[in-house]
Amino acid sequence: MSQDTEHVKCLIIGSGPAGYTAAIYAARADLKPVLYTGMIAGGQLTQTTDVENFPGYPQGIMGPEMMDDFRKQAERFGTDIRFGYVSSVDFSSLPHKVVVDEVKTITADTVIISTGASAKWLGLESEQKYNGFGVSACAVCDGFFFRGQDVAIVGAGDTAAEEATYLAKLCRKVYMLIRRDEFRASKAMVTRVQNTANIEILYNTETKEILGNQQGVNGIAIYNNKTGQDSVLEVTGFFVAIGHHPNTDIFKGIIDMDETGYIQTKPGTTQTNVEGVFCCGDAQDNIYRQAVTAAGTGCMAALDAERYLAAKEAEEVMAHL
Ligand code: NDP
Repeated sequence: MSQDTEHVKCLIIGSGPAGYTAAIYAARADLKPVLYTGMIAGGQLTQTTDVENFPGYPQGIMGPEMMDDFRKQAERFGTDIRFGYVSSVDFSSLPHKVVVDEVKTITADTVIISTGASAKWLGLESEQKYNGFGVSACAVCDGFFFRGQDVAIVGAGDTAAEEATYLAKLCRKVYMLIRRDEFRASKAMVTRVQNTANIEILYNTETKEILGNQQGVNGIAIYNNKTGQDSVLEVTGFFVAIGHHPNTDIFKGIIDMDETGYIQTKPGTTQTNVEGVFCCGDAQDNIYRQAVTAAGTGCMAALDAERYLAAKEAEEVMAHL
């Protein structure tokens, strides 16, 4: 075997709550997992500030610190954590082949995909400047910090509608900014939004800039794309809910996925359409997208991988009897 080829029992791709939890379970089951972190070690949570809804942290914790804890726990049981990204895969025969950083080939008996998803952003410089300081892409994660305050949310799909009604329960006022003159969300969700007294829907409205200072966001500059009129909304929170992109491009045409790219697993399991390949976390979840649900499916993936390997070994023993 060349220096640049290596065989592992369990390869985990991605380092968010799903990947690290899979690593903790796989390492404790003696699968000797190797985990490649991807370009953002720790995943989406390293780009947030306080996390207050992950059970076990009564005082809350900073996202990067929490992911550091996840990593340390995975390392404690022997996970081999490496910085690097998987550039291509070949799942056409066993063992599976995975190329890392375009140079190193790893063969693996099992592969756990935990590559996550990325929130889509408007692409404004001020949006990144205030990310975590008033700008968020997750109302369920961050809405609590804006209790009693005025906020705005951009988007017109089911996520935006759901998050607007969630925010309306916590905040004094929610402005919903919709770029066209209609929603994309389902009728039921639209009706819910329209019947919520403290949500004001602004159609044909686009965001020009997020305004703020050292303390964070204090307003947004918007314009009406029909009338051309500029105005400023005084808000302290700005939520972006314009969709997510699952990080699954390298698996296209190999692993079954929906039209957006979310990987499909057998209901109630993490099993993909390919034998020995499992998927957990946001890469397969366009509904819940929470750290705790990602961690839960990470645990499932490791258990599924372990059971798959045990069944394979038992088959081999039987074949030699
Ligand atoms: P969608 O792709 O459905 O909607 C994205 C929304 O963001 C659209 O309204 C789009 O506007 C708007 N948008 C995109 N780019 C911009 C931009 N640059 N500026 C302003 N607005 C922009 O994403 P969702 O996350 O809402 O939903 C994804 C999938 O998940 C859908 O299939 C949805 O039904 C499903 N889902 C289901 C839920 C449920 O059943 N409870 C809850 C949440 C999601 P435009 O309409 O003009 O294109």
